[in-house]
Amino acid sequence: MADYDLIIIGSGPGGYVAAVRAAQLGLKTACIEKASRLGGVCLNVGCIPSKALLDSSEYFHLAKNHFADHGIKTDNLTLDLPAMMARKDKVVSDLTQNVRGLLENHQVEIIHGVARIAGPGKVEVSSEEEGARTLETKNILLATGSTPIEVPAMAFDEDRIVSSTGALDFEEVPKHLGIVGGGYIGLELGSVWLRLGAKVTVIEMLPKIGTTLDGQVARTLDRILKKQGFEFRLNTQVKEAKVSGKKVKVTVESKGEQEELNFDRLLVSVGRRPNTQGLGIEDLQIQTEERTGLIIVDETCQTSVPGIYAIGDLVPGPMLAHKASAEGIAAVESMAGRAGEVNYDTIPAVIYTAPEVASVGLTEEQIKERGIPYCVGSYPFTGAGRARCMGETDGFVKLIAHSKTDRILGVHIIGPRAADMIAECVLAMEFGASSEDIALTIHGHPTFAEALQEAAMSVRKCSIYAG
Ligand SMILES: Cc1cc2nc3c(=O)[nH]c(=O)nc-3n(C[C@H](O)[C@H](O)[C@H](O)COP(=O)(O)OP(=O)(O)OC[C@H]3O[C@@H](n4cnc5c(N)ncnc54)[C@H](O)[C@@H]3O)c2cc1C
Repeated sequence: MADYDLIIIGSGPGGYVAAVRAAQLGLKTACIEKASRLGGVCLNVGCIPSKALLDSSEYFHLAKNHFADHGIKTDNLTLDLPAMMARKDKVVSDLTQNVRGLLENHQVEIIHGVARIAGPGKVEVSSEEEGARTLETKNILLATGSTPIEVPAMAFDEDRIVSSTGALDFEEVPKHLGIVGGGYIGLELGSVWLRLGAKVTVIEMLPKIGTTLDGQVARTLDRILKKQGFEFRLNTQVKEAKVSGKKVKVTVESKGEQEELNFDRLLVSVGRRPNTQGLGIEDLQIQTEERTGLIIVDETCQTSVPGIYAIGDLVPGPMLAHKASAEGIAAVESMAGRAGEVNYDTIPAVIYTAPEVASVGLTEEQIKERGIPYCVGSYPFTGAGRARCMGETDGFVKLIAHSKTDRILGVHIIGPRAADMIAECVLAMEFGASSEDIALTIHGHPTFAEALQEAAMSVRKCSIYAG
């Protein structure tokens, strides 16, 4: 008799959500976590602390630069960075405690230790307190997530040359922060420190920032962030970074020319790699992608070895918390004999800059590449009454629909509250909606979402307010 129906390795948003759902479905479940706190990267050093700092720094920026527009005087405004950090830490510790409570309430056994697969249906867990022991289980779910990629020529010391984890914990605002990589992590953490007073330079090898974004949105984001003070060094490669006293000397190369840049701190955010080392997957010959090391799974998240599943940052697809959770649910549903699948075509993606960027579905470039006939409707936030009231008029909504069927193919929003507005578009795409469905849906007034309705109307050239 197996000790468990399911052992989950990793308690991030993939693992802990899967654990709760498995318990709801009646599976005797254990969740093994090597860190002292539950919640994985997302809660401890990812989504949550970064958003806590983005919100705090945005308040600071607004108080400093925009409250006066509303007739609010903020003379003698000061920054208490330790208090801001303490607030962030409290948000994190409250949420990780909530995850513990959630698992306990569902009778999920929480085991602290480092786990590896010891064979089919066998998981070995080791901890300092209890040593090594082997547990037997019917199913195994791997949810060990990912870690920042470390480039040898700019190795992390987590003081001067930092990963995203170090950049969430600076003790003082750097005078000049260098960021290697113009992806969402670099842009979000760059926004935090820029708003708090740092000069921020982003070095990106490719010709644009936010490479996965719709081109028009990426260009707008580039323009808005530059206006805020970001410096972008595009088509520029970092050759080497060296710490010298309190400075980081960075050698970059662009168009064959080398140059040395000096920063107070350097954030290297060039991507993440799956945590598969030491998991025992090679011994069982679990298939992985050669180039990325990601674990190959079928539509139910089962690996090439029956009874072993993998989800989240370990498997192909966007490295996002909500994708990990959706896969966790799909995997345990199918273990329990129910239908479980993830619709990869409707996973929203958000960048929490100001303004926010949110998208779902195909970009215009991808649609062109696939030769799909399409129509575009777009609407600027300058035309939305609510945006005017709030003084947040940067950006637009762009909705792309099939020109024959009118089915929505993709929505790309850069603007205030884009992260929340995209949910309506995800639902619409899940239901196979047309642009006309959104155009005919009554949206409250005055709201930011009216810009989405106007963009949908303008697909068929019947926007009320567009010129
Ligand atoms: C700075 C930053 C900001 C981010 N912001 C967002 C955001 O706004 N929205 C979003 O959707 N995503 C965001 N992400 C990405 C998101 O955090 C990840 O996609 C998500 O955490 C992946 O979840 P997961 O469950 O696959 O793994 P993780 O969250 O990485 O959890 C894996 C867990 O497994 C544990 N573990 C690993 N190996 C073992 C082992 N052998 N034994 C036991 N335990 C083990 C780890 O300690 C960890 O707790 C952000 C990431 C970063 C770094």
